[in-house]
Amino acid sequence: MLYQRSSQLFAEAEKVIPGGVNSPVRAFKSVGGTPIFVKEAKGAYLYDVDGNRLVDYINSWGPMLLGHAYPPVVEAVIEKAKKGTSFGMPTEIETEIAELAVSMVPHIDKIRFVNSGTEACMSAIRLARGYTGREKIIKFKGCYHGHSDSFLIQAGSGAVTFGSPNSPGVTQGTAKDTLLATYNDLANVASIFEANKGEIAAIIIEPVAGNMGCVPPKEGFLAGLRQLCDDHGALLIFDEVMTGFRLARGGAQELFGVRADLVTFGKVIGGGLPVGAFAGSAKVMDYLAPVGPVYQAGTLSGNPLAMAAGLAMLQAINSDVTVFKRLEEKTAYLEKGIRAVLEAKQIKYTINRVGSMISVFFDEREVVDFETAGYGNNDTFKTFFHGLLKEGVYIAPSSYETWFITDALTYEDLDFTIQAVDKVFA
Ligand SMILES: *Cc1c(COP(=O)(O)O)cnc(C)c1O
Repeated sequence: MLYQRSSQLFAEAEKVIPGGVNSPVRAFKSVGGTPIFVKEAKGAYLYDVDGNRLVDYINSWGPMLLGHAYPPVVEAVIEKAKKGTSFGMPTEIETEIAELAVSMVPHIDKIRFVNSGTEACMSAIRLARGYTGREKIIKFKGCYHGHSDSFLIQAGSGAVTFGSPNSPGVTQGTAKDTLLATYNDLANVASIFEANKGEIAAIIIEPVAGNMGCVPPKEGFLAGLRQLCDDHGALLIFDEVMTGFRLARGGAQELFGVRADLVTFGKVIGGGLPVGAFAGSAKVMDYLAPVGPVYQAGTLSGNPLAMAAGLAMLQAINSDVTVFKRLEEKTAYLEKGIRAVLEAKQIKYTINRVGSMISVFFDEREVVDFETAGYGNNDTFKTFFHGLLKEGVYIAPSSYETWFITDALTYEDLDFTIQAVDKVFA
């Protein structure tokens, strides 16, 4: 495959956009090479500016659950756009999508729409702090909750009670309120609560981690967090920006039968337009302005264009809940096929999968947290990524990312992909 035009466009972009991209992972830094510029996309396929077709396993990092340019979403957006795209005043469609979301997701009474997953998580944390009157939060190493300051904290050794900023620009003052825990390690979380009695406002977690590759919660882990939060008067926040409307109609709360106090959404809920949301019980959500004291706002929040896309998406999912079963079956089929190839070639690997979230780590050891996820960040992954690309299959340009399977994929596409894996390791 040729990437001449992409390379040219990237060189031009680098002159006027930092790193040539508007979000870092797009730059291919961890796998090498130059990013591919997309011309258009339809269903399961991306078409790049050099005329290559790629089977897409990223789908804009999740939103395109039903494929690119999904007709009901496209039509809804076109119709709405003709009538004005934002008013900064209430519109009926906001209530319509809110009612639908509340009916689909367990344990939520009210939902507020924002413009990204980052905003949703940032606002949920502020709300949890305002509601509990406490300042500290627990987050897990390797979980991503957007790029707001409180979340850009990495573990230094022994940094259980005092985080240190891992991104310049995040102050020590902010970092010290983010306590880092180890995913799937309940005893670790319990010890953090013991060491910070009465100070922890909330735990925020990806109920299935997807930002260190796919890492499922161990049996009882989420229920254990629920219990710890209840014991210590903290809120449990499920960051369902990735898992929401993907793993089940009601997301991870439904799948695992564990209640969260606040849930954040993004990605699928916007159908490919910039939408995020956070939701919870009326009691907690009514702590928000204008009824409550916690301020949160947005000029373009809930704009009709974004709401039309989101509503069309949720309606499609809601009217055909077999979509989750289909997605699961397709992803399981892909998993089985890739396993067979890697076994036959005697390649060391681990595959983690929950529903339509899957990732391949090129190491045979179990992957349960951020540290073990790092085993797969190696040259074999780079070979895999570039090899698949050459065969016309696009996966995330980082071993720390899950694949986002779309229902637009056919079994022929899946077979094509499995054959591509076979060719990569020929
Ligand atoms: C993508 C993601 C976010 C951030 O959402 P943006 O829309 O990129 O701001 C937050 N949390 C999780 C779990 C995500 O996957």
